[in-house]
Formats: sequence, C-alpha cells, structure tokens
Amino acid sequence: MRVANTKQIEELRQTLEARKELIVKNIEGSRDSINSMKDVECNDDYDYAEISSDSFKEGIIANQQLNELKEIEDALKRIEKGTYGICEMCDEAIAIGRLRAKPFAKFCTPCREIYEVERQ
Ligand SMILES: [Zn+2]
Repeated sequence: MRVANTKQIEELRQTLEARKELIVKNIEGSRDSINSMKDVECNDDYDYAEISSDSFKEGIIANQQLNELKEIEDALKRIEKGTYGICEMCDEAIAIGRLRAKPFAKFCTPCREIYEVERQ
C-alpha cells in the first residue's frame, strides 16, 4: 500500500487543525461554565445535586476531548517529522480511507485490532 501523498496529508493536516481548534474552544467554554457554576450560591440540596451532576458530565466530556487533543497534537508532530500515515507497529502505510475516518490514527487496521485485543 502507498503512503498518503503530500496533497492528501495536507488535507488531513487541515482537518486535524480545524478539529484541534474546535476542541480547544470547547474545553475553554466548559471551563468557563464550571467556573461560573462555582459562583452560584446553593440554597438547597436539590440545586446542588443538579449542578454537581452537570459538572461531572462536563468533566468526562472535557477529559475525552483532552485525550483527543493529545492524539491530534501527536499526529501534527508526525506530519512535521514526515512519519505521518505510517503504522507505528509494523511500519506499513495506513490506508488513506482509514486516515480520513480517523486522521490521528497511529496504527493500520490489522495492528489496531491486535492493539485493542491486547489492551483488554
Ligand atoms: Zn500496522
């Protein structure tokens, strides 16, 4: 299989950059709403429970987004180094279709399956 060409990598880089920007904005936004919630005076237990479950959910979402952000930054570094689109496990090219579906993929499809099984 051929490694993604320069034009394809450039397209994927733009996808990654756009996604990164979106996540950064989301994280900043949820940080603001968590901070503003802390300023709210809680007069009864009901309100308090409602607020804490919301910030708990926001915390989980923020965590997932932080993980994705890290993956995206790794992928952008690999583009700079010229190792982008190459499987980290077997050094084979990752299919362009897979990169389009998941631009920060580190492994080709067969290696990804092995990796998932080993992690369980
Ligand atoms: Zn592989």
